[in-house]
Amino acid sequence: MKVLLHVCCGPCTIYPLSVLRERGMDVTGHFFNPNIHPFKEFKERLSTLEDYARQTKLPLVVDPHYGLTEFVREVAFHEADRCHICYHMRLEKTVAVATSMAFDAFSTTLLYSRYQRHADLISLCEDLSTKYRIPFYYEDFRTGWQHGIDVSKELGMYRQPYCGCVYSEQERYDKSLRKK
Ligand code: SF4
Repeated sequence: MKVLLHVCCGPCTIYPLSVLRERGMDVTGHFFNPNIHPFKEFKERLSTLEDYARQTKLPLVVDPHYGLTEFVREVAFHEADRCHICYHMRLEKTVAVATSMAFDAFSTTLLYSRYQRHADLISLCEDLSTKYRIPFYYEDFRTGWQHGIDVSKELGMYRQPYCGCVYSEQERYDKSLRKK
């Protein structure tokens, strides 16, 4: 089965990729993440992923465009619902690419993170699967959370300290928000 795996970054790719390959799947990564800001952070995450993809012979489809403008326009005035909008932006693109390139299914490394809204992701992927008529491969990759962290540290990978957008960066470093 040829699977297009939406990849958010290198460290989060480690465990889902190992699981999918163990299941005998032919995996290609799709990097489309207009949520990652600022520009230097975007470049750092992408280059970390590309290094890891070279090491593991993971084919990648990369959208190198820095999507600050598009992302901000989508979430403006909907900040409280921004994660759902963010998931939708990224995953609909992956599904469209998977369909146009004749993949058998799609999935996402976002299902690996303990910090993402897992149920929301499943529901969204199921809706996209129906809309685009392509199977969604689901697995709870969170079970390998620590394994992914351990391997990324062993490999000396860059590990980002916040989710991606400027809002999450503020939540990570603004002590007054963290207290709440
Ligand atoms: S916190 Fe993460 S998932 Fe939510 S909008 Fe920001 S980058 Fe996207």
